[in-house]
Amino acid sequence: MSTIVVIGGGAAGFFAAIASAEANPEHKVILLEKGKEVLGKVLISGGGRCNVTHACFDPQELATYYPRGSKELLGPLHKFQPGDTMEWFADRGVELKIEGDNRVFPITDSSSTIADCLIEMAESANVDIKKSSGVKSFSQTEEGGWKVSTTSGDTLIADKLMVATGSSKGVWEQLKKAGHRIIPPVPSLFTFNIKDERIKGLSGISLPNATIQIASSDLEASGPLLITHWGMSGPAVLRLSAWGAYELNDRFYRFPILVNWIGRDEDVVVSDFMQEKKFSGKKRIGNHAQYEVPLRLWKSMVAAAGISNTSTWGDLNLKQIKALASELCSAVFQVSGKSTFKEEFVTAGGVDLKEVNFKTFSSKVTPNLYFAGEVLNIDGITGGFNFQAAWTGGFLAGNAMAGYPLD
Ligand SMILES: Cc1cc2nc3c(=O)[nH]c(=O)nc-3n(C[C@H](O)[C@H](O)[C@H](O)COP(=O)(O)OP(=O)(O)OC[C@H]3O[C@@H](n4cnc5c(N)ncnc54)[C@H](O)[C@@H]3O)c2cc1C
Repeated sequence: MSTIVVIGGGAAGFFAAIASAEANPEHKVILLEKGKEVLGKVLISGGGRCNVTHACFDPQELATYYPRGSKELLGPLHKFQPGDTMEWFADRGVELKIEGDNRVFPITDSSSTIADCLIEMAESANVDIKKSSGVKSFSQTEEGGWKVSTTSGDTLIADKLMVATGSSKGVWEQLKKAGHRIIPPVPSLFTFNIKDERIKGLSGISLPNATIQIASSDLEASGPLLITHWGMSGPAVLRLSAWGAYELNDRFYRFPILVNWIGRDEDVVVSDFMQEKKFSGKKRIGNHAQYEVPLRLWKSMVAAAGISNTSTWGDLNLKQIKALASELCSAVFQVSGKSTFKEEFVTAGGVDLKEVNFKTFSSKVTPNLYFAGEVLNIDGITGGFNFQAAWTGGFLAGNAMAGYPLD
């Protein structure tokens, strides 16, 4: 019988502990959580609904949703992907549903359904869950196992140690002592703060097919864009914040963006407007929003282009038409900071992926050490990808620690 110690009672830690204990009930599995309660992030996730995973069942495509870790996750996702996650929960009595945008939630729309299931499964597999047991330090024993000291004064000896502590600076420091390189952490999945008259008072307006580009950079993202009280949010912004996590950090979150509200070619828009001038010359511009742009935003664009809302299409000259097309397709806004997206945020950075064997999620640097979840330099865009990385890593590491690595 071996002793397996898992540090961190989050999604990755629970999945690993359950997988280990279910794969080989002979082992003793101990899960150490520093907080008074476990699964804190699961409970607040997805706005309290827990976006468990994403209904994308092709590992090749799935991997592309991870700005960091896409190459490394490809193999593991062939072994445990969203279809397996959904089956895992269904087999344990949790019904899940796929929403229109392919995000997967429990049918109850309550994250406690997921947390309760994980706790119940851990308990029935005899995982020893120790709350209020923060790990202070861990070091390798002469036999190749691990000595783990907790803040509550306990010392445990583990044959195998799994670190699933999310974005814990203290634990990353410990891992540096164990010989690992830690990629400096920076936030990912944030919204943009923008103060600009053109969007003032328009919060709540969303455009389904926008494209945003960071000026003087290759960074670009498309998708729904939402105007908020503070600036801009929505999938297009969140994607950009994930792919640009390091670059935007380097710019202290101050940079210009080019917004194409409708994701269309500006030249085509100019020629469409010329047609309006030709065939609908008497129509008042301010009353006739184009391309299904919400009227209040359209009026703001018309004003920003220096055109009176009472003008007709026939009144416009080419310069004014081009100015309006530019407000629609390449409006420049200055971002002056970031805000937290309440439904999901994550930290980029963590254990250097070059130092991890992704067949088992074990350390290449030191024996009998395993990782899963956000402690690694892996993160996904919003939509259930971050939990999927935690489930996949936890499942593979858990089985490997139990002595049954997945082929
Ligand atoms: C508000 C919010 C909403 C989110 N919503 C979603 C969503 O809907 N879908 C999605 O895919 N992702 C979501 N995410 C991201 C997702 O929550 C994380 O990617 C995921 O929780 C990572 O799991 P983890 O187990 O690696 O880390 P964590 O969930 O952070 O768990 C780590 C655990 O380790 C414990 N710990 C830390 N240090 C120690 C120590 N020294 N000793 C003992 N224990 C320790 C912590 O207390 C914690 O319980 C959300 C994130 C946030 C913040």
